[in-house]
Amino acid sequence: MTGSYTIIDHSHDVVIVGAGGAGLRAALGMASSGLRTACVTKVFPTRSHTVAAQGGMAASLGNMGDGDNWRFHMYDTVKGSDWLGDQDAIEYMCREAGPAVLELERFGVPFSRTADGLIYQRPFGGQTLNYGKQMARRTCAAADRTGHAILHALYQQCLEHRTEFFVEYVALDLLMDEDGHCLGLLAWNVEDGTLHRFRAHRTVLATGGYGRVWFSCTAAHACTGDGNAMVLRAGLPLADMEFTQFHPTGIYGAGCLITEGARGEGGFLTNSEGERFMERYAPTARDLAGRDVVCRSMTIEINEGRGVGPQKDHILLHLEHLGADLLHERLPGISETAKIFAGVDVTKEPIPVLPTVHYNMGGVPTNLHGEATTLRGGDPETVVPGLMAIGEAACVSVHGANRLGSNSLLDIIVFGRAAAQRAAATVRPGETHAPLPPAATERAIERLDRVRHARGATSAGEIRLAMQRVMQRHCAVFRDGPLMQEGLGKLGETAGPMRADLGLADRSMVFNTDLAEALELDNMLQQAVVSLHSAIGRTESRGAHAREDYPKRDDAAWLKHSLAWLDESGEVRLDHRPVHMQPLSNEVAPIPPKERVY
Ligand SMILES: Cc1cc2nc3c(=O)[nH]c(=O)nc-3n(C[C@H](O)[C@H](O)[C@H](O)COP(=O)(O)OP(=O)(O)OC[C@H]3O[C@@H](n4cnc5c(N)ncnc54)[C@H](O)[C@@H]3O)c2cc1C
Repeated sequence: MTGSYTIIDHSHDVVIVGAGGAGLRAALGMASSGLRTACVTKVFPTRSHTVAAQGGMAASLGNMGDGDNWRFHMYDTVKGSDWLGDQDAIEYMCREAGPAVLELERFGVPFSRTADGLIYQRPFGGQTLNYGKQMARRTCAAADRTGHAILHALYQQCLEHRTEFFVEYVALDLLMDEDGHCLGLLAWNVEDGTLHRFRAHRTVLATGGYGRVWFSCTAAHACTGDGNAMVLRAGLPLADMEFTQFHPTGIYGAGCLITEGARGEGGFLTNSEGERFMERYAPTARDLAGRDVVCRSMTIEINEGRGVGPQKDHILLHLEHLGADLLHERLPGISETAKIFAGVDVTKEPIPVLPTVHYNMGGVPTNLHGEATTLRGGDPETVVPGLMAIGEAACVSVHGANRLGSNSLLDIIVFGRAAAQRAAATVRPGETHAPLPPAATERAIERLDRVRHARGATSAGEIRLAMQRVMQRHCAVFRDGPLMQEGLGKLGETAGPMRADLGLADRSMVFNTDLAEALELDNMLQQAVVSLHSAIGRTESRGAHAREDYPKRDDAAWLKHSLAWLDESGEVRLDHRPVHMQPLSNEVAPIPPKERVY
């Protein structure tokens, strides 16, 4: 017992937080290599946000006879990242993509098929052949339910390999010693209210993104970036937090996603004049330019008065010309979503859409083995002993300033596997654990108590809404210094006092959703502050970070990753680490920065 809590101790070789695609792929690799593996997750594994992924997973299999190869995929990814992606990690990911897809096929993922029985591939934004000359067809799809297929197959494989699941356990904080080693984590079992202390030689954060920091997003309610916030509280940095991806086609008003695969299959956007305006902004790739480019074009159309609807505040996505048969076979999920959330029959009418927050390029900085890194003694790649991060929570960085569609399912599988290989190579099964200093647990419990016993008058929901509105307005597709400063001020003025005035209606420990939401809010506020500071700090435009006061990319000053620390008083400190311009092997030359046009 510590205070009023019952604490149950567990000892594993590795503990993974998160059972999305990244967490499950890592768990499978670690468990099957003989490591005693725990997977702690706040939602049931197959309800993780990966289940919602629609369009597919990129790999240059060339199944559509287009002669695609990993070099083209690497070039597109470096260009898509606006040269902020690390070229060694990108080379690794693009080369591993083919084997990763075929491995998933063996695990039982029911990919859609070509007439010849090969895995079906559709075009996605920014995918080209011959370094930008023609469009490629690179995205491997299981209709428009690819994430669902992958997550279920991986969960079954994990069960077969005896991963120990701890479901509806909310991870609260990392257990760190004074030397900055991660020794495990503390979690709350929501079902019976007990606390659980997991000791492990490697703690792997696979906690996903933090889309819920914004008002309108495509992400699940669980996407609150808890792992990122745990890292900040452990005194470690997050990288590239200014880069938030907006997806061009969230359903207007609802935010639910209509996959880029819809445009990949031939869908297109129009403004109030009925014009296919993307032809003006991206003459070659048109509706399949990078997501940041399409979002900015849509926003300009709306701002210049060519939006549709009574408020002239959205855009139309047309699929009706594709025909009912193709829509039924290739896009059944989004046809249903459009019916439910926009009341639209896609075979007859266009879907009203708007750019919506979709993905976080930033997160826990790692090397390409999934080991968390920090800047220490002048070395920006110092490995944090015991801590790893993978998936959307991590920043390897393969997506740089802008992720290409269908590269995230790829990232989570490839780096989930890489992390498992690293753990298998560096941890001896059954090794004894170092003693745990009591301060580590005490710190985590102090924070839990601070939130749980908050006695103010404002609910977590009210504070969350205030934060989401600030971020939606002040950290949007287009931004500038004064607008973001004002946002920081508002976060301080509105969310700050409200946060001090937080009050919980329920203080019990059993299935207390009020407490769970308040803890998530605490995590989100920390990331909101860090995102705004990082965005104010970067005085250039690159990828998804489009500043009206600094409209140009500035490679001389800014070809570097941001690192941000948050101290206990709420102060943010910024620093940087260089971009890896050197690929992993000498089979490919570095891709030098140039202007990014589609
Ligand atoms: C609607 C939608 C469609 C998408 N479509 C595509 C696509 O077609 N192709 C593509 O490449 N990408 C797509 N993406 C992006 C991609 O799906 C995600 O980036 C990716 O699935 C993230 O996987 P993950 O394993 O990192 O995290 P998630 O799948 O989000 O899983 C996070 C896990 O962490 C756990 N967790 C979080 N906090 C805690 C805590 N405190 N305690 C315990 N457990 C915790 C959760 O329970 C969950 O299991 C899409 C995203 C969305 C939102």
